[in-house]
Amino acid sequence: MTSKDEIRYFVVGDLRTNCYAYISEGACMVVDPGASGARIAEELQDVQVVQVVATHRHHDHVGGIRALVEATGAPWAIGAIDAEGATHALELSSHDLVGFEGEVQNPPAADRLLHEGDVLEVGTARFRVIETPGHTPGGIVLVGEGTAEGVAFMGDTLFAGSCGRTDLAGGSWEQMSATLERLAGLIDPSVTMFCGHGMATTMKRELVSNPYLQPGAWRTSYGE
Ligand SMILES: [Zn+2]
Repeated sequence: MTSKDEIRYFVVGDLRTNCYAYISEGACMVVDPGASGARIAEELQDVQVVQVVATHRHHDHVGGIRALVEATGAPWAIGAIDAEGATHALELSSHDLVGFEGEVQNPPAADRLLHEGDVLEVGTARFRVIETPGHTPGGIVLVGEGTAEGVAFMGDTLFAGSCGRTDLAGGSWEQMSATLERLAGLIDPSVTMFCGHGMATTMKRELVSNPYLQPGAWRTSYGE
């Protein structure tokens, strides 16, 4: 990432989701506004929000989209397979959302459905879409290029020291295993990975320390 670009983040909602704002040349892409969309829009009044994107369909990643796009007029995008589920994310949630009304809402239908290899542009930065099924069927990771080289947004696919759960609707151990193996080979060790929850990390660090990225980890864990 060049020094001219900037990343801001907001921790939002009942599950303390990391919402990221990638800013380049005064343009801003918001990733995973999981709640409090109006508040996020207020915090970003000094830039132009040109794109909103969700890494997957869970309520804690899409719950702020409606208010954010209403405030900014920005289009929003999500992996094609997760798009339909996102529009009733609250009903599909396993969490009790009472008390968060107004903070989390179902998003409107997505403006753009993303597929493997698609590119999102913001200023002089580009983000390539990688399809990463496992946590949800249509989850995506965004890998930075151009002035965003060295940055990736991981959603709930990979965390520092862990990975996303696969026991929710549409989750798959088999898909997650293949996704993690693919990401380990595809994302450069030097890349800083911004995760949907918890701390940011690097692929170099995770290749050494993350048990889910070790060869044979899955076979050992599940006794195949
Ligand atoms: Zn999730």
